[in-house]
Amino acid sequence: MTVPIGTALGSASVRCEVIAVGSELLLGQVVDTNSSWIGEQLALAGIDSHYQVKVGDNHERIRAAIELALSRSDAVIMCGGLGPTQDDITRDVIADVMGVPLRRDEEIVDRIRAMFGARGRDMPANNLRQAEVPVGARVNPAMPGTAPGLICPVGDQVIYAVPGVPWEMMQMVSDGVLPDLQERAGITSIIKSRTLRTWGRSESGLAETLHDEIQRLDRDGGITIAFLASGWEGLKVRLTAKAESEPLVDELIELEEQRVRSIIGDEIVFGVDDETMEHAVLDLCRKSGRTLATAESLTGGLIGARLTAVPGASDVYRGSVVAYASEVKYQVLGVPEGPVVSEAAVRAMAAGACDVLGASCSVAVTGVAGPAPQEGVEPGTVWSATCVDGAIEASVVVMPFDRERIRQFTTINTLNALRLRLLG
Ligand code: ATP
Ligand code: MG
Repeated sequence: MTVPIGTALGSASVRCEVIAVGSELLLGQVVDTNSSWIGEQLALAGIDSHYQVKVGDNHERIRAAIELALSRSDAVIMCGGLGPTQDDITRDVIADVMGVPLRRDEEIVDRIRAMFGARGRDMPANNLRQAEVPVGARVNPAMPGTAPGLICPVGDQVIYAVPGVPWEMMQMVSDGVLPDLQERAGITSIIKSRTLRTWGRSESGLAETLHDEIQRLDRDGGITIAFLASGWEGLKVRLTAKAESEPLVDELIELEEQRVRSIIGDEIVFGVDDETMEHAVLDLCRKSGRTLATAESLTGGLIGARLTAVPGASDVYRGSVVAYASEVKYQVLGVPEGPVVSEAAVRAMAAGACDVLGASCSVAVTGVAGPAPQEGVEPGTVWSATCVDGAIEASVVVMPFDRERIRQFTTINTLNALRLRLLG
């Protein structure tokens, strides 16, 4: 949930509507995350957006959606339906609305052919469709995939077409669409945001701690703070600044980041922007010349999966023992016979992981993911331990969550415990 706090940024005079194209969006097979992302970016850029529409892959209905949008907005962003297949008809409908034919753009043909060539493949004839551009339209200079984006003037209004694939769409909107919209709106200021990822405080707790600072920013303007609770990605605190030039906006954000860190406590910030908890832990291990192992029971390999999703994990991470059955804990990790959801068991698991996998530090977890109790222990009870150079620390939490959230919370919580120890 985003809780925008503070004054709105920008004074918009351009209204932009978003149309997401694709029958799969109407059928609930794909969740329309593109529209919400674009909505957020428009707000940040200071562009008004009053409507978001979803429409299936049907010529007449897409046409009706565009005409309605042009009757009440200055600009339209359409996402999806730019691919090479027969049901990708966005460009045809736009040409229809513009009242112009499509022309083949040889430069795009060459670019698409080169992309296939780079992967050692021939360009399928289908892809020629993607090089068709309505006469009078420009091609978006940003082209991360094979689908070119279009900038199509309709009188003094404009239709932007971007691909449906989220990462292609994001890059194209950021680099090609938003600057064009801001230019149309006469917005010269630069807007940037930075996200501090935190773990260990609740959203309301953080909001309370930052209350005075947020009020000060409200009065002074230029910067806003927003919270975004993101499950096991942590609680994000996003700083957004607006200024007349790039150096100025960078300086504003830098100063505010330091101020926020000093108010909420530097140690609860585990990463900035895209840096995850795994990232932070691997980095700290690397910097201190340590190697890492995991011993996982109730998480069944989730911690290892998260760690190995980070490129370059191999120079730090040794591996995992997924010790799910009690016998595996006893026989592989040297856990003493007895209850396996216990302090003694989790300590032995952490030590065993370091021994068996030859690592200088480790994390270990054992608990009851639920829904039923186990060995008389309530679901949600999780013992976790961290081992750093032979010194083991263990703790227990009881979580009133469902099975999946217990496993996810355990993963980030345990990695955070190791992070705090490695920070010293
Ligand atoms: P392609 O070249 O891949 O065909 P396209 O522009 O035709 O691109 P679509 O075919 O509409 O795009 O969508 C491609 C994929 O992108 C979809 O399968 C879906 O996973 C994702 N996608 C499309 N629209 C959205 C959306 N509004 N929100 C989130 N994901 C989307
Ligand atoms: Mg498609």
